[in-house]
Amino acid sequence: MSNVFNFSAGPAMMPKAVLEQAQRELLNWQEQQTSVMEVSHRGKLFMELITQADKDFRELYHIPDNYKILFLQGGARGQFAALPMNLANNKGKALYLTSGHWSSTAAKEARLFTDVEEVNILKDGKLETGNLDFSDVAEQYDYVHYCPNETISGVEIFDVPNVGDAVLVADMSSNILSREIDVNQFGVIYAGAQKNLGPAGITIVIVREDLIGNARKETPSIWNYEVQSKSDSMINTPPTFAWYLCSLVFKHLLATGGVTAMAKRNREKAALLYAYLDQSDFYQNNVAKNNRSLMNVTFTTGDDELNAKFVAEATAAGLQALKGHKVLGGMRASIYNAMPIEGVQALIAFMQKFEAENK
Ligand code: PMP
Repeated sequence: MSNVFNFSAGPAMMPKAVLEQAQRELLNWQEQQTSVMEVSHRGKLFMELITQADKDFRELYHIPDNYKILFLQGGARGQFAALPMNLANNKGKALYLTSGHWSSTAAKEARLFTDVEEVNILKDGKLETGNLDFSDVAEQYDYVHYCPNETISGVEIFDVPNVGDAVLVADMSSNILSREIDVNQFGVIYAGAQKNLGPAGITIVIVREDLIGNARKETPSIWNYEVQSKSDSMINTPPTFAWYLCSLVFKHLLATGGVTAMAKRNREKAALLYAYLDQSDFYQNNVAKNNRSLMNVTFTTGDDELNAKFVAEATAAGLQALKGHKVLGGMRASIYNAMPIEGVQALIAFMQKFEAENK
């Protein structure tokens, strides 16, 4: 294994075994003497690929038969708009539970299409969530939206908000397939692929069937869940290579113990890093313990110059992309599914050394 580790928040590292398989198959996919990106998306072999990808993803996440899985374009941001177009057509309003940058951005986009009420679920503005029981008000809305993992601040919400029988929508862009969930608790789950699923350019939408077919009539076909669902997510030419890579990631995950085994590894990696941060008086993580993300670990020395030095020296030592998001500063280690525990261990060793040299 190379001793370079990529902590990018997204596009993020892919499983090495998947990249190697793609490399092996690049010039001769399925004995076609051509690559997968050069064949028709409607051809028999590609249709078999997407059928298998659907089956594998369903198996990985225990997705019941009354949910459709769409593979779309436009990223998670495309869904910020698609959701109200498809769902906000009975009561004409949606409730957005906000906990940071991405949930707030989703609410802002939804306002272009529907009435939005926003509730900040961070307790006293701290990086900790408060009460998540909305069962008394949720029925007034067409849906309730939240983001279980805020990628920038590293705030993860482990308890699913209680919305009674209302429709719960989750942006799982940065924690999909990272731990087990009960899909039945959600009306829609969506995620851009570029963290845990594959490369950028493809977006997964898991949508309960009874929520399909209610889009406003001016909804563009590419954003219409009903149209996409009826045409196997192929109303236009799909990003075939990205879809193929996702299919390899699913197979790889199934072969390595599925989501349960992955969740165990993810908990171990995160526990190691947070334990190190907690015993150090040089670095701080400002997220409440119950909301610490398993995927994005944010930390700072509290000094911008020292943070910049940390990032530069870490990069030189083979620990890439640790600079925090520009809206927050500091550092962020994204330790998605593909990050091996050796990467976290190498990061901690570097942090110890840097602390000793700069304290
Ligand atoms: N939601 C979350 C939680 C994200 O982390 C991101 C991207 N980092 C987005 C939405 C936006 O995703 P995209 O770039 O695929 O539109």
